[in-house]
Amino acid sequence: MRTWTPPEIPELPGQGVAPKLFNTATGRLEHPAIPEGKALLYVCGITPYDATHLGHAFTYLTFDIMQRAWRDAGIETVYAQNITDVDDPLLERANDTGVDWRALADEQIGLFRSDMFRMGMLPPEHYVAVTEQIDEIADAVRELRELGYAYSVPTDDAEGDDIYFDTEGASRDSEWRLGDVAPYDRELMLRLSAERGGDPERTGKRGALDPLLWRAARAGEPSWETSVGVGRPGWHVECSVIARGALGGAFTVQGGGSDLVFPHHEFTAAHATALSGTPLAHAYCHAGLVSYQGHKMSKSRGNLVFVSRLLDGGADPSAIRLGLLAHHYRSEWEWYDGDLETARRRLEAWREGLTRQSDEPVAAAAVLRQLRSAIANDLDTPVMLATLDAALDRGVDSPGLIADAVLALLGVQL
Ligand code: ZN
Repeated sequence: MRTWTPPEIPELPGQGVAPKLFNTATGRLEHPAIPEGKALLYVCGITPYDATHLGHAFTYLTFDIMQRAWRDAGIETVYAQNITDVDDPLLERANDTGVDWRALADEQIGLFRSDMFRMGMLPPEHYVAVTEQIDEIADAVRELRELGYAYSVPTDDAEGDDIYFDTEGASRDSEWRLGDVAPYDRELMLRLSAERGGDPERTGKRGALDPLLWRAARAGEPSWETSVGVGRPGWHVECSVIARGALGGAFTVQGGGSDLVFPHHEFTAAHATALSGTPLAHAYCHAGLVSYQGHKMSKSRGNLVFVSRLLDGGADPSAIRLGLLAHHYRSEWEWYDGDLETARRRLEAWREGLTRQSDEPVAAAAVLRQLRSAIANDLDTPVMLATLDAALDRGVDSPGLIADAVLALLGVQL
């Protein structure tokens, strides 16, 4: 898939250090492995409808900042992202609105691309839609079945069988164990499975948590003729195949919003490990969910704030970035309508601060050191913002260096 034009990133003097990151799977701050000096990052992409709300933007901004931290540390990055362009919610929305699902997906992918470009986000090198890899995904499902990690479940509304992943079998016989990524108890896993696209109640499955690998063709649903029959892939195996295809196994970070920890990232890792004997990623990093009007921003509730609407209303992309970066990426927080104005004032104050004549200006080199130390500490953007507030309030000895540092590390244009 076509991506978008990358933002300008100025060169800074000296070098930062590789960031310590919180790994959900271990519950610790770690330096995830950087194979052959390249930080390999996979971030789960959108299902193309209702894009791009501020919750999405917060997640993609988190991994944009992560890449900026690696690059400043002299580490090359390779970034892959998927598009879940065939999935139940997309098909339901297309049906409800009487629009062809492909047209809806195309329109929303275009909008997402435009939002990411306007927000100055680093584009992925590998931007892969599920519909571009149906055969590869089907082959992986066939392989899982040959390895004994997948089984058929009869259907009463399709000609073929659906195929499910054998959670207990894989947890027993492969290198993956249930809970490797999501440190949750079984009761919570069952609840999250039901809430997030799973079907723990379906009869005929060996285990309630077993996720769908392949859905046999139903009337009125898109389907493909493949090596495992006519149908379409399940959600987790898509990302598993696309991630490994783009980055290989055991890459640096698998990322996404915290609602992806279970079941999505747990089973993406399970499929990859069952197929290859190698863990999917070294670390699993998750951005907190954003609320609005008292509830998590969600499509079902409809309490979404769209990036495109803010931008079309005249918001400065740098102000939107600052509004989001005021929160640590792992925190769960609420967006208030006044937040944009607060961020706009901060941006204005920084811009004024750059021109401030001071008898005792702050040394820009020292500010850069502080920024580097904060970004290396699990991407602590609130500390970075506070550092800049203080320095620009007094005035700095090298405004050019500060402007470059703010653009390179935070993507904020002063
Ligand atoms: Zn994914």
